[in-house]
Amino acid sequence: MRPDYRTRFAPSPTGLLHLGHAFSAFTAWDRAQAAGGQFLLRIEDIDVPRCRPEYEAAIDEDLRWLGLNWPPPLRQSERLPVYRAAVMRLAARGLVYPCRCTRSDIRAALSAPQEGVVGPDGPVYPGLCRGRSMAEAGPTDALRLDMAKAVRLLGNAGFQENGPDHAGWHRLDPERLIAEVGDVVLARRDIGTSYHIAVVIDDAKQGITEVVRGADLFSATPIHRVLQAALELPIPRYCHHRLIRDDNGKRLAKRDDSRAVRVYRNDGATPADIRRMVGL
Ligand code: GLU
Repeated sequence: MRPDYRTRFAPSPTGLLHLGHAFSAFTAWDRAQAAGGQFLLRIEDIDVPRCRPEYEAAIDEDLRWLGLNWPPPLRQSERLPVYRAAVMRLAARGLVYPCRCTRSDIRAALSAPQEGVVGPDGPVYPGLCRGRSMAEAGPTDALRLDMAKAVRLLGNAGFQENGPDHAGWHRLDPERLIAEVGDVVLARRDIGTSYHIAVVIDDAKQGITEVVRGADLFSATPIHRVLQAALELPIPRYCHHRLIRDDNGKRLAKRDDSRAVRVYRNDGATPADIRRMVGL
């Protein structure tokens, strides 16, 4: 028993919880129960225009129906200044630059042959604005991490993966981070923050010891690890679980309302049925 175990389920209230979310929440919950630890909830609602209070209410209701409980959740939309301050700390260390490129600027720059590596956040940024100083930042600029500078802080950094597919220690490779991930956006022009910065700040804030989440985010973990190093945050372990797919092998998305937990519930399914349906 590890009484210090803490994990979280971190849905975005942009749709109804489907079977994939149920699997993720159960996996986190079961690991917390097995360790005698704590299960926490985080509402990832930084993308305010896409999030709706009724979806948040539905998340709460569906998770309780599934038999889970948690202390009061962390709501990311209430923490935007905290994320901003973290980006500014990185900027003060010279690790951030303002970027005014539009998507089409980036696409045009990438149309040259041999450009265009696709990383976890899409095409690797070709560096057009790299070297601009924060003093030049315009109000609608995005802020990017200068990856080549950030990886210098890494030393022998890595992370422990406890999930079924890549279990073991993963040492970060600075060259690959530069070439295959690149200068990721830390503050989007529209919302002033980003998933990456919010997730590392909040995993630290919530004292998470093991991040349980879908395998689709395994490739984002090195980005999170770089940010943890640069912000001197504690390093959780990771457990990336398999994804629940539809009959055609496609990963479930929020729009797959036919697989929403409450649709099955209204059809008379029990929480135990939901567990069985996701292979637990
Ligand atoms: N909010 C993310 C999602 O709904 C999960 C992020 C995470 O667990 O790190 O996919």
